[in-house]
Amino acid sequence: MLITLKEIMNIAEDKGIAVGAFNASCLEAIEAELASAEELGLPVIIQFAQCHEPWIPLRTIGPVMVNMAEKAAVPVCVHLDHGETFDYLQEALEIGFTGIMYDGSVLPYEENLENTIKAVEMAAKFGASVEAELGSMGKRETGTGTDGAGADDDTKIYTDPDLAASFVEKTGIDALACSFGTTHGIYLSEPKLDFDVVRNVRAKTDNIPVVMHGGSGVSAEDYHRAVEAGVRKINYFTYMDKAGGAAAKDYIRRLKDGEPVFFSSIYMAAREAMKENVKTAMKVFAGIE
Ligand SMILES: [Zn+2]
Repeated sequence: MLITLKEIMNIAEDKGIAVGAFNASCLEAIEAELASAEELGLPVIIQFAQCHEPWIPLRTIGPVMVNMAEKAAVPVCVHLDHGETFDYLQEALEIGFTGIMYDGSVLPYEENLENTIKAVEMAAKFGASVEAELGSMGKRETGTGTDGAGADDDTKIYTDPDLAASFVEKTGIDALACSFGTTHGIYLSEPKLDFDVVRNVRAKTDNIPVVMHGGSGVSAEDYHRAVEAGVRKINYFTYMDKAGGAAAKDYIRRLKDGEPVFFSSIYMAAREAMKENVKTAMKVFAGIE
């Protein structure tokens, strides 16, 4: 069943868990994510990032995401990840997305604030919720997983809890993406996470649900500590994408000389591997493992 980001954050808050948010840029990914959630009986966020537009247009995959979420046996939020332009936010809202992230983190603070307020007004007309970002996680979402950065990435700016308090109050957002040491893509050095940033943001904002980006490659122990500190949404994609790729490679390697390679067999192998990978992540985020 399709629910809003705000509603799914409330479920996470009640259960004291983080809901996994997985990029859904192909049909196999959507199927893998919904099947995992249904098998575990957990809520899930399926999301599409604006930077994945070259992979498949939002106007093509978006209606599929909404349609499949409506038919799912568990609560599902269909969310726009890293929306950077108002036209794109509008497109997602018109398709029926129940959550949008406005990412103005690269802009000066005042501009980010102003644009986020506008995004909240836009979403309200559709009954949708809004995630915004404060601070900078350094490297942006690319999904290719090849340009991750280490903990010493100097473009990284940790979220200031006092600024977060004022930002949340002025914008009326439903979730806040915080920068506390995570990075998009693959980590080149071990991530050093500062959970005090999360705790302080929560304390100063009346417990705004905190979103953790760059969720791939973090240890189970750190995920648990993040959830304990107040992370309620974990964006996870790179390792799932890698698992699908590895399964496809393995399938091809096992073929005998001269045997034909069928694309349908490749994507079925990839879908199964992505499902197992997502299930493992979901169990950690929900504190089952
Ligand atoms: Zn992100």
